[in-house]
Amino acid sequence: MSLNVPCFRIAVLPGDGIGTEIMAACTQVLSVLTEGNAGFTLDLVFLEAGADYFTRTGEDISQDAFNTARTADAILLGAMGLPQVRFPDGTEIAPHLAMRTEFGLFAGVRPVKQYPNLPPVLFDSRSKKVDLVIVRESTEGLFAHRSEGRVIDDRVALDTLEITRPVCERLFDFTFNLARDRKSRGLPGTVTCVDKANVFRSMAFFRKIFDERAQLFPDISVRHQYVDAMALDLVRQPWEYDVLVMENMFGDILSDLGAGVVGGMGMAPCGEIGLEHGLFQPAHGTAPDIAGSGRANPTAMLVSAAMMLHWLGQRHANAHCQLAGERLDAAVTAGYAEGDFLPYEFGGTSGTMEISDRLCRRLAINGESV
Ligand code: ATP
Repeated sequence: MSLNVPCFRIAVLPGDGIGTEIMAACTQVLSVLTEGNAGFTLDLVFLEAGADYFTRTGEDISQDAFNTARTADAILLGAMGLPQVRFPDGTEIAPHLAMRTEFGLFAGVRPVKQYPNLPPVLFDSRSKKVDLVIVRESTEGLFAHRSEGRVIDDRVALDTLEITRPVCERLFDFTFNLARDRKSRGLPGTVTCVDKANVFRSMAFFRKIFDERAQLFPDISVRHQYVDAMALDLVRQPWEYDVLVMENMFGDILSDLGAGVVGGMGMAPCGEIGLEHGLFQPAHGTAPDIAGSGRANPTAMLVSAAMMLHWLGQRHANAHCQLAGERLDAAVTAGYAEGDFLPYEFGGTSGTMEISDRLCRRLAINGESV
């Protein structure tokens, strides 16, 4: 292999609960994808952080680990936090939330994709394919001042929602470019702005900036939808949507709804992307109810890793890395289509490592014929 093969440094934070289990599955698959003459390598730097680490050390993440994540080419995260482990003020241990703000990860990209052979959830969706992406603004909105909420005289509670022009402009430009990329791959390339512009000034401002930035992307069609109507449509006709962009809290709620529509949290990948950094993690939590059973569905973790490879490849103009992301994505889809596995989440009997083993075998076989 040439000495000039690029090596990407990945900060790996498995975290707590099923986070450590799905991360083991993920790193096994990544090692198959990078073996031989792959055209790039990954230097996985494992870092401790989360609730278990807090119990042992009194801090949720060390400054060193935080800095390592800051200087890495990408961050790969399992899941963090345990319900019984809290800071003295009662909040959960979630150092990755600080990464969102510190690293400016304004775009939470959450694909909602229906995989073949899975039981339909709320409707007979066998004939219509759900394949949309929610872009959740992840640094402001109702979360911007989350530690400053007030309760006055045990009578009134106040939280503040913040929308700023620079973040909105970055968010919408990112979203329109994402739609453009999807359009180039044969998808509709339509962006829907989800808000509550009929009631809140902040939301009318959000929509105004959306409309302004849309002018710069004349090849992309735009729609508007109020968040309540969007919730209805996500259940009734999700196949009618392509890319949805929304405020932080709305995105938090609707992306879980989206995950439910395609089967469950194990199918909900996520990329949190900023101008300089990218953090990739499944949208679900540590699932203490199934942790240790070996039954966690690693799909969301694996697709998040595929998103990471795709993002790294695009960012560093490395076609091999981009292709590896596409291969992983395709292998997951083919694995479901050909009945290689059915996770417990869907009533099947395929455990975390069995799914990973089968994907490794599929990737190794396909890799030889490339
Ligand atoms: P958080 O608040 O940290 O997002 P949560 O308490 O809302 O977490 P999750 O940990 O996401 O909840 O779990 C919600 C439900 O989904 C649980 O019943 C859990 O077992 C299930 N679940 C989550 N992730 C997976 C997975 N990868 N595979 C199977 N089931 C999962």
